[in-house]
Amino acid sequence: MRNLPDAKGHFGPYGGRYVPETLVKACEELTSAYRTIKNDKKFRKELSIYLETYAGRPTPLYEAKNLAAHFGHGRIFLKREDLLHTGAHKINNTLAQGLLAKRLGKTRIVAETGAGQHGVASATAACVFGLKCVVYMGAVDMERQALNVYKMKLLGAEVRPVHSGSKTLKDATNEAIRDWVTNVEDTHYLLGSVVGPHPYPSMVRDFQEVIGRETRRQIVKAAGHLPSYLMACVGGGSNSMGFFHPFLRDRSVRMIGIEAAGEGVETSHHAASITKGRPGILHGMKSYLLQDKNGQVQLAHSISAGLDYPSVGPEHSYLKDSGRVAYQAVTDADALKGFDLLTKLEGIMPALEPAHALGYLPKLMPKTRRSDTVVVCLSGRGDKDIHTVQQHL
Ligand SMILES: *Cc1c(COP(=O)(O)O)cnc(C)c1O
Repeated sequence: MRNLPDAKGHFGPYGGRYVPETLVKACEELTSAYRTIKNDKKFRKELSIYLETYAGRPTPLYEAKNLAAHFGHGRIFLKREDLLHTGAHKINNTLAQGLLAKRLGKTRIVAETGAGQHGVASATAACVFGLKCVVYMGAVDMERQALNVYKMKLLGAEVRPVHSGSKTLKDATNEAIRDWVTNVEDTHYLLGSVVGPHPYPSMVRDFQEVIGRETRRQIVKAAGHLPSYLMACVGGGSNSMGFFHPFLRDRSVRMIGIEAAGEGVETSHHAASITKGRPGILHGMKSYLLQDKNGQVQLAHSISAGLDYPSVGPEHSYLKDSGRVAYQAVTDADALKGFDLLTKLEGIMPALEPAHALGYLPKLMPKTRRSDTVVVCLSGRGDKDIHTVQQHL
């Protein structure tokens, strides 16, 4: 299970590379370059210095005793990715791919963004590595996330509005892929999650695996043993995949991925692609996908823009079918409760994405034993969401 994907990028029936002929060569080039660089000591050393001195790794593992006391028993730990530079785990991946792009001799990166978080993290990495940066963003999203658009511009990136389709993340991704096809000579496509054609799902997972590796060391030191549960939110699935992966072989560690149930999975306003989707193809991969009766991609909805994606990384689809990871969906309302609880009890305002994982604690904790330890991946901080919270609480 830890050895997936196969040479063609398949996780069982999922993943693969569903791209036009013109992109096959680019994907193959990237795959072989990544395979070489992955084991290159110099690359790894250089990246670890950036992660440490620029991004702020290792991030702490904090025991949330007030939160645990609220539920009456068990121990709860938070992996503090919210303390990273730019406020979320996304910087782990953008620094790594930025360095990779530079190593490949590329001078330009393109990226897609929904809420703007990955766009900001990409623009940041582009500054560090002296790369030109173009970010594709749906016109609707640009209006909703004006502050992040402005931040990207301050960082020197060009933000290109996308007016096709629903004018959101799905359409921005299509445009970014189109740009990559056209400019593959000098351009690297900096994809933001464990999605897309091979090698992105496994490459981004590898770049986010630092979260799980650190957690493993830290929890053994703090609790004396491996955790009973790992829990993380799942949008595209990168923070959760990086968090879970180093523990997949440890049968005693139970894992829960939390999707966004929006207004409820029984409504049409949710982003629960694993819970409610069917296998289908989007953005070069096969995975669980929200689609209507005719196979048209259904729009995703979540209060948190980062979970608002109609599909999910193919490795998650595989882990769902194999039963190794359990997937649950948490509504907007319960995520807001999770936000409120952590803020009041621990003085930490989480982003609305990991607030979904916190929103599942009231269901999980009564089932745990006194000696159980639960580790939640706090993928980002809440500053970006304060306005949304204000409108709803
Ligand atoms: C983007 C984002 C997510 C969702 O992306 P994944 O690839 O599923 O990790 C989750 N949390 C935060 C804070 C984000 O910014």
